Amino acid sequence: MKRQFISKTKWLLIVPAILLFVHCSGPKRVKFPIPVDTKNKPIALQEKKSYAFEDLGVWVSNEFDGARLNGAQQLNDSTIVLRFDPENTPINKSPYYGFKVWSDSPKQAYFLFDYPEGFDHRYKPKKQEHGNWSEIDSLDLVETESGILLKLNVKQDPVIIAGQEVNNSKDVQEWYRKEIIGNRDFVHEGSVGETKLGRNIPILDIYQGSTTGKPIIVLMTRQHPPEVTGYFAFQNFLTTLVDQSELSTQFLNKYRVLVFPIMNPDGVDLGHWRHNANGVDLNRDWSKYRQPEIRNVVSHILKTSKADQGKIILGLDFHSTYEDVFYTNVERMRTTLPTFIEDWFKTLESEIEGYKVNESASNSTRPVSKGWFLYGQKAVGITYEIGDHTPRERIVEIGSTSAKAMMNVLLENK
Ligand SMILES: [Zn+2]
Repeated sequence: MKRQFISKTKWLLIVPAILLFVHCSGPKRVKFPIPVDTKNKPIALQEKKSYAFEDLGVWVSNEFDGARLNGAQQLNDSTIVLRFDPENTPINKSPYYGFKVWSDSPKQAYFLFDYPEGFDHRYKPKKQEHGNWSEIDSLDLVETESGILLKLNVKQDPVIIAGQEVNNSKDVQEWYRKEIIGNRDFVHEGSVGETKLGRNIPILDIYQGSTTGKPIIVLMTRQHPPEVTGYFAFQNFLTTLVDQSELSTQFLNKYRVLVFPIMNPDGVDLGHWRHNANGVDLNRDWSKYRQPEIRNVVSHILKTSKADQGKIILGLDFHSTYEDVFYTNVERMRTTLPTFIEDWFKTLESEIEGYKVNESASNSTRPVSKGWFLYGQKAVGITYEIGDHTPRERIVEIGSTSAKAMMNVLLENK
């Protein structure tokens, strides 16, 4: 039998062709002025355990999703030092913590917060008791030379103490299944894939009637795990969008909304300060899509847009920082909605008494979602930031009013 061999010259042609195909087979890359390396970096996992301080009769634990506690040591007969480290460095200054504490009998205990050098205490501690979150009284927090000292009345029932209200991947799923899907047949739950650790990356695809030709709006949140106030605004925004009012029905008959309620479930459940399980800031990966979260989300958005001839017109990415601020792009004339930002902010200001929009405009230089919408889709991209300490009832108002304002502007009911 005569065997056919592929000649060496042919291989020289085939191999580069395969490599080229593999390289180009993912979603189209978007160029940014300043590239960021988003290749995988090692992370340190926190050891999951309960720390027992028998002579104090106090226990501390990080054995739940969304916890962050890297070590605990007794300092004296009343104080326990709690150590909080980031998943890796360099990292943004968002030193998140989360732990559970209980005791053998009701008593007072002191906890000294210990962060690595260069990181200061940022998040005011919140306490969860019987399922309800409240802020810890500032009188129970003392700034000492060695760091923040927290005075706590502990008892047999465990309480959770965390930098922001814990909303882990299970909490997020429970919330959107109950409050957003409920019995609404126009909210379609799906999955765009899995993270490195096998967690689901969910999507809610929302529209009334047909999908064909409907312009697409993208909403997303929790690229950065501790940014829970942005998630609260997102929750209220989305609740308003599907509230079955006349405005919502009219809006969803004309537009389609692709919603990503938890972009970084690994980071959220691991109690990360900022990165995913590959140690990467997801909101720097919107150029080459090296991370599974961004690659899956981008592929899904582009595939949906192409399949149904729906143009991507607007992307809102919910985050938190020190204050409420909308980061916008300066470039607007090239987008499908050149006056959206002005109209939206004007409507928002007229709807909330005494409210002044804090806008910070500059074209993205690094690969963030806001720039991807502009450079890749000629769409309006906005980073919707809520302050770490913005009162929770204020967030409800801003979140839901901004949703109504967006719907009105896009329906031209300004
Ligand atoms: Zn952020």
